[in-house]
Amino acid sequence: MRKVALWHAGTVDTERVEADLDLTKTLFTEEQIQTRIAEMARRIEADYEGRDLLLVGVLKGAVMVMADLSRELDRHVEIDWMAVSSYAGTKSSGVVRILKDLDTDLDGRHVLIVEDIIDTGLTLSWLVANLQSRGPASVEIATLLRKPEALEMPVDVKYVGFDIPNAFVIGYGLDFDEKYRNLRSIGTLAEHMYS
Ligand code: 5GP
Repeated sequence: MRKVALWHAGTVDTERVEADLDLTKTLFTEEQIQTRIAEMARRIEADYEGRDLLLVGVLKGAVMVMADLSRELDRHVEIDWMAVSSYAGTKSSGVVRILKDLDTDLDGRHVLIVEDIIDTGLTLSWLVANLQSRGPASVEIATLLRKPEALEMPVDVKYVGFDIPNAFVIGYGLDFDEKYRNLRSIGTLAEHMYS
């Protein structure tokens, strides 16, 4: 029985999962992701020392990054969530809708948006403008992944985990049609699965 590279081996029927996944390449292992998140956390701790910090996660993709990054931070933080929709399948529509808004008043707050991935930048440039209009003290962005070649809107990103090629990736919160979010690593999906 062959092991599925991206899956947490040992807890699943690997043959069944493999047929289902059709993965092509692991980009980042669980260990590489955790190491990089720890490095990002050290920088965030230093930069926000002595200031209140509100982490804003973008559902659903940022759930894993938020869970790991926030627990890695050796300080108090508050966490809130927004859900926006800008994607159908693998193509960016450029349309952003708020599906779930924040519960927190941003007036005077230091806000750090926690994202899984920046592709065209359309979602985040819209989100930054939206949050900035609510009177925060600052709005910055931390993203685990960024695709520099795909960028269409300039976005000022303070913390980037990894720059990646312009490919569709899955795992560690990132889905394809709501599947694969629970993979511990990040990889690409075989092209015929979504073309
Ligand atoms: P953007 O507005 O920057 O083009 O896209 C932002 C959103 O698109 C991300 O938060 C994510 O939900 C989705 N997205 C962009 N690229 C990928 C990708 O390679 N894989 C997955 N699963 N989602 C992506």
